Amino acid sequence: MKIHEYQSKQTFAKYGVPIPKGRVAATASEAKEIAKELGGRVVVKSQVLVGGRGKAGGIKLAKSPEEAEELATQILGMEIKGLPVRKVLIDEAANIESEIYLGITNDRAARKPVMMVSAAGGVEIEEVARLTPEKIIKVHIDPIMGLQGYQTRDIAAGIDLDRKYWKEFAKIAQALWKAYVASDATLAEINPLVITKEGHLLAVDGKMLIDDNALFRHPDLAEMRDTDVEDKAETDARKYGLSYITLDGEIGCMVNGAGLAMTTMDIVKLFGGSPANFLDIGGGANAEKVTAAFRIILSDPNVKAVLINIFGGITRGDEVARGILTALDEVKTDVPMVVRLVGTNAEEGRQLLADADMITAETLVDAAKKAVAAAQKGA
Ligand code: GDP
Ligand code: MN
Repeated sequence: MKIHEYQSKQTFAKYGVPIPKGRVAATASEAKEIAKELGGRVVVKSQVLVGGRGKAGGIKLAKSPEEAEELATQILGMEIKGLPVRKVLIDEAANIESEIYLGITNDRAARKPVMMVSAAGGVEIEEVARLTPEKIIKVHIDPIMGLQGYQTRDIAAGIDLDRKYWKEFAKIAQALWKAYVASDATLAEINPLVITKEGHLLAVDGKMLIDDNALFRHPDLAEMRDTDVEDKAETDARKYGLSYITLDGEIGCMVNGAGLAMTTMDIVKLFGGSPANFLDIGGGANAEKVTAAFRIILSDPNVKAVLINIFGGITRGDEVARGILTALDEVKTDVPMVVRLVGTNAEEGRQLLADADMITAETLVDAAKKAVAAAQKGA
């Protein structure tokens, strides 16, 4: 899950990263008030969950509260890379001497977090990574030992940081590491970490990605979810506890179990079809969940057929079938449905579904073939 710049910076600040004074505003007049409170020059920053806001015109400096108001009006009316700007952050402007990149992410190949640092920070960091990767220093962090003092000194020396900043830099690097671990982040990034003309280090921008699977233990972070950037069907699915991912094929899949869902998608592909989604309705799914799942699958206009692949274990096959029929009573559709039902009481379940004019199948191969054929007919 992505969180906004102001949320990332506030999280970093909790662990000791210095950030500019500032607050977020939803209207231009609020922006003006904040600018007045801060006094002096401020920076008006669009809060959208995409990178490159500066280049897109979503970050502007203002010399007065009136100018901040005017710029906030402009920026709040913008769309950046397709996303509406609903909030602006008004920060005290920094006098920037130079810009450093400082980030932590997981290096899957090394099976360790890695801290990445470059003296060439700022808006061109992707170009630096592409053209002169040697300018980015990478240091792996042992997850048990944590970030060590010698490592932050190595980094500081590696980016030719003036010695007078080493202590401040080490403190910020440690704070970022703490924020990363404590938040179950998969990315914690400061770009730029600036050296100010006054001679201090300051985190002017912040970005964090939080591991979705850890959100259950961070209700404060979970609350920060901004669904603007998310696929609507995926947001709906989360509400019902369904694991759902939108794909671009034409066969909707409703399956219980993640492994079985992947197998189903593979078999659909094998017989010339293409899955419209990944969906695991989980174990013990009731009629309410199945109804939600149907509604979500059918909200995708590309879906030409639905393949339901259920392994009835603890939940008996006839119960599953009744759940499906109840759901279909509520979600009326002409899209053909193919059901493969196995396990306890599967025979009774299949009979119930066949009586309701659904296409049934005994094997997954048979079901996949029937679903592909039905989708082609409907296309
Ligand atoms: P991004 O474009 O989405 O990465 O947004 P940033 O917050 O990183 O801002 C982009 C650039 O705007 C930075 O690299 C800085 O050069 C500049 N910038 C941001 N905040 C300030 C500020 O307070 N003062 C000055 N002078 N420049 C700023
Ligand atoms: Mn940035």
